[in-house]
Amino acid sequence: MEKHIAVLPGDGIGEEVMEQALRVLKLIADQYGHRFSTTKALVGGAAYEKFDTHFPDETNAICRSADAILFGSVGGPVSEMHLPKWKNCEANSILSLRKTFSFHANYRPVRVIPELQHLCPLKKEVIERGVDILFIRELLGDCYFGEHKTFNSPAGVRTATDLIVYDEEQIAAVAEVAFKAAQKRRGKVTSVDKANVLDSSKLWRAVVKEVALGYPDVILEDMLVDNCAMQIVRDPSQFDVVLTTNMFGDILSDAAAVLPGSLGLLASASINKDGFGLYEPPGGSAQDIAGTGNANPIAQILTVALMLRFSFALETEASAIEQAVETTLKEGYRTRDIARAGEADQKIVDCKGMSEKILDHLAVKASIR
Ligand code: NAD
Repeated sequence: MEKHIAVLPGDGIGEEVMEQALRVLKLIADQYGHRFSTTKALVGGAAYEKFDTHFPDETNAICRSADAILFGSVGGPVSEMHLPKWKNCEANSILSLRKTFSFHANYRPVRVIPELQHLCPLKKEVIERGVDILFIRELLGDCYFGEHKTFNSPAGVRTATDLIVYDEEQIAAVAEVAFKAAQKRRGKVTSVDKANVLDSSKLWRAVVKEVALGYPDVILEDMLVDNCAMQIVRDPSQFDVVLTTNMFGDILSDAAAVLPGSLGLLASASINKDGFGLYEPPGGSAQDIAGTGNANPIAQILTVALMLRFSFALETEASAIEQAVETTLKEGYRTRDIARAGEADQKIVDCKGMSEKILDHLAVKASIR
C-alpha cells in the first residue's frame, strides 16, 4: 500500500512523541511492505512563530493533499496563555481542522490494561470486571456550533445564550459510525442524551432508534447523561460503545480518560464522512515535562495504530502495534507517568527507551508472521 501522511507535531511534547511514533510507522512500512511518505507541517504556537496564525494556509494545503493527518498536541504553558502566540491556540488549531475537514465523529477508546490497574482510581473489584469502552462523540453539532449570544435583557440584566442545534442527518451519520463499531466489538451501543429535558435529545433518541433497526445484531440502550456519568464510575464494565452528542461526549470521555491512569496512554481519531481522518492523543502539549525526555510516547504510537485501522483498513498492522505496546507494559517498562513508587519489577525508561522496546516487539512479531 502507498499512502501520504500529513504530520503536525505541534507544541510541547508533540515533537518528541511524534518522532517515536514515526519510527513505529517506518518499521511497519518496512516489515509489511507498505510505502508511507510523510510531510511535516506547523500548527499551534510553532506555526504562530513563523506565520502569525495557529493554522496557516500552508499547513491546510499539506493536510488537503494527504491521505490522513497525524497530529501531536498544541498549546503553551498556563502562565503564558495571555501571549498572542498561545491565546486561543487550541481552539484556532483544532476547531479549524475540524471545520475544514468536517470531522463529524470522534473515536476515543478507553481501556484499563491489567498491568496498570494500580493507576486506575476505581476499586480493584470494579476494575476487574473489565474497562474497555469506545466513546463515539458527534463533533460538528450541539451548542459548540450554534449561535452564542451575550446581551442585556430589557431589564438591564446581563444574559447569555448558547444554541444547541442537531438535525436528523447529523444524528443518523454518527449513529451509523457507532453501530458499525459495535458490530466489530461486543455488539452493544449505549446512546447517551438528556431526553427528559432537551428537544435536541428527544430527536437524538428517536433517530438513533431508527438507525438501530438496520443493525439487529447490536443491542441499543438509552441512558441519560447524568446517570451515565455515575455509571462510568460505578461499573464501567457495562459499556461497550458509548454514542453521544458533542458536549456530553466532551465531558464524559474526559472523565473516563482518567481510568487508564495517564493521558500518555490514550489515542483518539476524528473521521469525516469520506473516511478521511485526523489522529491525535487527547492530552495536551504537557509543557511541564516537555524537553525532559519523560513524555510517554504510547499515546502517539497508538494514534498510528488507529490511523492504520480506520484510514487504511490495515487491521493486522494496527493490532501488531497495540500488542507490542501491551507486551512492553507487561514486561514492566514504565515511563515516569505510569511508574509506581516502590514497585521492584518495573524498568523506568524515557520516551525513546519506551519506543525502542515497542519497536523490538514489533520487529520480532513481524519476523515470525
Ligand atoms: P496536558 O494534557 O498537556 O497535561 C496534563 C498532565 O498530563 C500533565 O501533568 C502532563 O505532564 C501529563 N501528560 C499529558 N500527556 C502526557 C504524556 N504523553 N506523557 C506523560 N505525561 C503526560 O494538559 P495541560 O497541562 O492542562 O495543558 C497544556 C497545554 O496543552 C495547554 O496549552 C492546553 O491548552 C493544551 N491542550 C491541548 C490539547 C490538544 O492539543 N488536543 C488538549 C488539551 C490541552
